[in-house]
Amino acid sequence: MGVTSRRILVTGGAGFLGSHLCERLLGAGHDVLCVDNYFTGRRDNVAHLIGNPRFEVMRHDVTFPLYVEVDEIYNLACPASPVHYQHDPVQTTKTSVHGAINMLGLAKRLRAKILQASTSEVYGDPTVHPQTEDYWGHVNPIGYRSCYDEGKRCAETLFFDYHRQHRLRIKVARIFNTYGPRMHPQDGRVVSNFVMQALRGEAITIYGAGEQTRSFCYVDDLIGGLVALMETGDAVTGPVNIGNPVEMTIRELAELVIELTGSRSTLVFEPLPQDDPVQRRPDISLARSALGWEPRVALRDGLARTITYFDGLLGQSGSGRGAGREQVRA
Ligand code: NAD
Ligand code: UDP
Repeated sequence: MGVTSRRILVTGGAGFLGSHLCERLLGAGHDVLCVDNYFTGRRDNVAHLIGNPRFEVMRHDVTFPLYVEVDEIYNLACPASPVHYQHDPVQTTKTSVHGAINMLGLAKRLRAKILQASTSEVYGDPTVHPQTEDYWGHVNPIGYRSCYDEGKRCAETLFFDYHRQHRLRIKVARIFNTYGPRMHPQDGRVVSNFVMQALRGEAITIYGAGEQTRSFCYVDDLIGGLVALMETGDAVTGPVNIGNPVEMTIRELAELVIELTGSRSTLVFEPLPQDDPVQRRPDISLARSALGWEPRVALRDGLARTITYFDGLLGQSGSGRGAGREQVRA
C-alpha cells in the first residue's frame, strides 16, 4: 500500500525550507518540480537530488506566469531573512503578491491544491501572546519589515479570495522561526549568525538587550507540518500556525549556542532594528487537533545538527573553522 504518486511543484525549492521539502516529497515517491530564481537559494541545496529521475529543476521568477502541469503546488518562493527581504523591498512585495497571483492562476487552471508558506510576521509585533490564528495582528504598513509582512498578508487575502470566488483548494501555513542545515550562512538570521560567529570565535551580535523572544522549530518538524497540512481534506484551509511553542530570549539562545559549540565568543550588544517584534510564540492547538502534528526535535538536538552543518561548511572553505573553540570536535 504505497502513496499515490503525484506531480508536485515547489516554488522556492532551492532555498532552505524548499530543498528539505523537495527531499521529503521525493522520499514519499512523488515527482517534484523545483522552481527557483536563486535569489537566496543555491544549486548546492538540491545538487544531491539532481540524479533522481523524479526530480526536475527550473530557473524561473514567480513574478512571471508559469505554464506547467502539476497536481499540487507548495508556494515557498520569497526571501525570508530580514536582511535579504529588505535588500530589494519592492521585489519582495512583488514576489509575495504577483507570485501568489501567478501560482493561484496556475492552480485554478489545473484545479490543483495549493499551499502558501505564510509567516508569523502576519501578526507583526503581537499584542496577543501566544499567537492564535484568530488574532489579526499588529503590523506597521510603512516600515522596513512591511514589504515582507504586508506582502504575505496580501498573499493570504488572495488565497482566501480564490478559495471563496473560485472554490480553489487552499492551505495556508503560518510558519514560525525555523532553523537547521542549509540555512544560508550569511542570511543574517539569528541562528545562522550566532552559530557562524561562535564557530569563528567572533563576538555574538545581540540586537537590543536580547530580551526579545522567539520560538525555534527544527526544519524536519516544520516540513512534517507542511506535508500534514497539504494531506488534510478540503475543509481544512488554515491558516494554521506551524512552529515550536518553546519560547526563549535571544540572549538565552546566544548562551546556548556558546555552550554547544564550546566557543570562546563574547556577547556584543547592537541597536535593535526597527519594528523588531518583542515576543513571538505560536499557539499550536489547531495544528495538534487538525493535523495531528506537533514538533518533536528539542532545541539542543536541532542546534547540534545545525552546528555540525555549519562546521562542515567552514571546513570546506577552510575559513576560521574551530577558531573560537576551547576544543575542536573531531
Ligand atoms: P530562503 O530564502 O532560503 O528560500 C526562499 C527561496 O525562494 C530561495 O530559494 C529563493 O531563491 C527563492 N525565491 C525568492 N524570490 C523568488 C522569485 N521571485 N521567484 C522564484 N524563486 C524565488 O527562505 P526559507 O527560510 O526557505 O523560506 C521559505 C518560505 O517559507 C518563504 O516563503 C518564507 O517567507 C517562509 N517562511 C520561512 C520561515 C523560516 O523561519 N525559515 C518563517 C516564516 C515563513
Ligand atoms: N537577532 C540578533 N542578532 C543577530 C540576528 C538577529 O539579536 O545577529 C535578533 C533579531 O533582532 C530578532 C531575533 O534575533 O529579535 C530573530 O531575528 P531573525 O532575523 O532570525 O528573525 P525574525 O524573527 O526577526 O524575523
